Amino acid sequence: MALTHNLGFPRIGARRELKHALEAYWHGNISGEQLQTTAAELRKQHWMLQRDIGIDLIPVGDFALYDQMLNMTALLGAVPARFNAGKEEVGLDLYFAMARGTDNQPAMEMTKWFDTNYHYIVPEFNVRTKFCIASSQLFKEVAEAKMLGIVPKVVLIGPLTYLYLGKETEPGFNRLDLLPSLLFVYRDILTRLTFLGVEWVQIDEPVLALDLDDAWLCGFDQAYVALHGSGTKVLLTTYFEGVDGHADLLKKLPVNGLHIDLCRSPQQLDTFLADYPVDKVLSLGIIDGRNVWRTDLEEALVILSKAQSVLCERIWIAPSCSLLHCPVDLELETRMDADIKNWLAFSVQKLKEISILGCGLNQGKRAISGVLATSTKARQARAQSLRIHNPVVQKCLQTLPQNYSHRTKPFEKRQVLQRKRFQLPLLPTTTIGSFPQTAEIRQTRSAFKKGKLANLEYLEAMRKEIQLVIKKQEEIGLDVLVHGEAERNDMVEYFGEQLWGYAFTENGWVQSYGSRCVKPPILYGDIYRPEAMTVDWIRYAQSLTQKPVKGMLTGPITMLMWSFVRDDQPRSITALQLALVIRDEVADLERAGIGIIQIDEPAFREGLPLKQSDWNEYLRWATEAFRVSSSGVKDETQIHTHMCYSEFNDILPAIASMDADVITIETSRSRMELLDGFGQFKYSNEIGPGVYDIHSPRVPDSEEMLELLKKACLVINSQQLWVNPDCGLKTRSWPETVAALEKMVRAARLLRAKLEPA
Ligand code: GLN
Ligand code: ZN
Repeated sequence: MALTHNLGFPRIGARRELKHALEAYWHGNISGEQLQTTAAELRKQHWMLQRDIGIDLIPVGDFALYDQMLNMTALLGAVPARFNAGKEEVGLDLYFAMARGTDNQPAMEMTKWFDTNYHYIVPEFNVRTKFCIASSQLFKEVAEAKMLGIVPKVVLIGPLTYLYLGKETEPGFNRLDLLPSLLFVYRDILTRLTFLGVEWVQIDEPVLALDLDDAWLCGFDQAYVALHGSGTKVLLTTYFEGVDGHADLLKKLPVNGLHIDLCRSPQQLDTFLADYPVDKVLSLGIIDGRNVWRTDLEEALVILSKAQSVLCERIWIAPSCSLLHCPVDLELETRMDADIKNWLAFSVQKLKEISILGCGLNQGKRAISGVLATSTKARQARAQSLRIHNPVVQKCLQTLPQNYSHRTKPFEKRQVLQRKRFQLPLLPTTTIGSFPQTAEIRQTRSAFKKGKLANLEYLEAMRKEIQLVIKKQEEIGLDVLVHGEAERNDMVEYFGEQLWGYAFTENGWVQSYGSRCVKPPILYGDIYRPEAMTVDWIRYAQSLTQKPVKGMLTGPITMLMWSFVRDDQPRSITALQLALVIRDEVADLERAGIGIIQIDEPAFREGLPLKQSDWNEYLRWATEAFRVSSSGVKDETQIHTHMCYSEFNDILPAIASMDADVITIETSRSRMELLDGFGQFKYSNEIGPGVYDIHSPRVPDSEEMLELLKKACLVINSQQLWVNPDCGLKTRSWPETVAALEKMVRAARLLRAKLEPA
């Protein structure tokens, strides 16, 4: 019998129940016990739902109050010493202290989970790190599941992945040295699970998708030999990339099964099927856990049948990765267009697909012919839909203008023209775009969206906001102004809502970190811009001032990265389509007299593939998409871009090839160290290194910012420098924003006076 299983279920709840409970608990509105009750209730619901769908092995241990890596840190007793934990059980207070910090201790660091938008809590390691089982939560959950008659497959993050994703808190220490002592505790955990009657443990080792050096690869042998024979069976799980490069190693490991991701890397199946060991199951991740489309069940069945002819009983069917990265249930989308809804599958629907494929393998294709037909019909309807294929867009792609991805003149020539046009002082001051989004602004927007506020009233309210923002910026003395982005809820959604080819969900939430969720829009078709999206707002702002107002757009790569995108064409083509509509918007802004236009690309680095060998290809089309969006302008028009919270050094040539006239970046938290790379690279265009961190309400002194600017001048020619905060100001309040910007302007003036004495 082919078995069906799931790698992990979204824990936040279809209606974000966990989010609400967590936030109520943090605000002191419910007790820890109440929080745990909600959590247990959600686990129960999710288990029952999966069982009722017909999934054979149900994940237990995939739940977390904050994060699965943090759960491992608690389970393994790897609490950083600064939290003063004893040897006792890690309780709620300590758990959340690690996640969110306390009055005296900063939180543990958080970073992105591979190439997803999920963020995990980074373990901290040093010579004194000792492991011991310090949380009984997992074992409680196993007991809970068993009580409910659920057959649990326990999910653990593997020892190599756990170590690899952590950071060393002391120089010279190698966290891989902790492996032997770590394995000791993993072994203990497996023994306890055996004792609880757990037959299968899923051990996730997604680091296998990265470029690992030999030391780490050798660790796999050591680890899985040590974990062998504990009594429970081990399914070693990989995802997010092909691991066929390690197929020989993996096939030899003393584990009872492997899971591979066939969505990211369908071609790896053949490598694994060749001489696949007879004592192992092979779990095939055939349903895409990273996107929202219905599966082509016919095609999936063909692939699975082929594998079954080799594996016989040893074939398992699964999503490619945990469904954590997928919204919960499509059925909650009551307002979505019926055609589009019919093309989609969220977590619940994906599990149903898995169950159907299981039936198909076990009982023959005929047993599922009805469902297959429906699925095929839906796929066909999607493939042929006119909502997806827009002839106008197709024609644009085929008749791209000459030189569509390069500015006419090189930067040095443009710079001369732009200097003449704008007459900006040395070290011009500006901001990144958004100004404080007050409760009032949010209420106005939401009232308008709900139809409770008439168009004209909304327009008036927003115009008032723009007046205020322009006035304040003039009082502060900034050189290049912005309109403040009050009309935007989210920098991707705002544009997506005005474009054809984008759909939105009511409840398509995906966990981003802790209690935070995002609702990525769904890019389903050719992207078309029926009319200008930002021109009226910017033109209005410009009418209020003599100073230049910067137009503000979201770049093609950020639009792509923060959406669920089509799987029926390469991402590079989708990026090009997005680039073309932004290019048109840029042209409209230019025509309206706007001389400076910023195209934000905060997600540019996120798009980098997991394997370095794939970087060049991505950087080629991603930088081209940016240039397409930005190069249709006159030489006198100044293009800005903005990126934040990125490591830049390894992609500097790509950033240079984007050829923005000005780039603003986050640098204050690294105290300008980030700039060194730009200096060494001899980055030729202009650059605005952020001089203060917008993540905290703290208002730095002018002197502090002056110091940073002086540091910047050591690596970058002062003629090339701009002065700005690290990022947008929408999360800040007005008083601190005004205070910080006044001090920033003062710092710029002080340095100007030094550099060019009157
Ligand atoms: N222009 C945007 C803002 O200021 C940029 C946001 C971002 O970088 N994430 O809010
Ligand atoms: Zn930013």
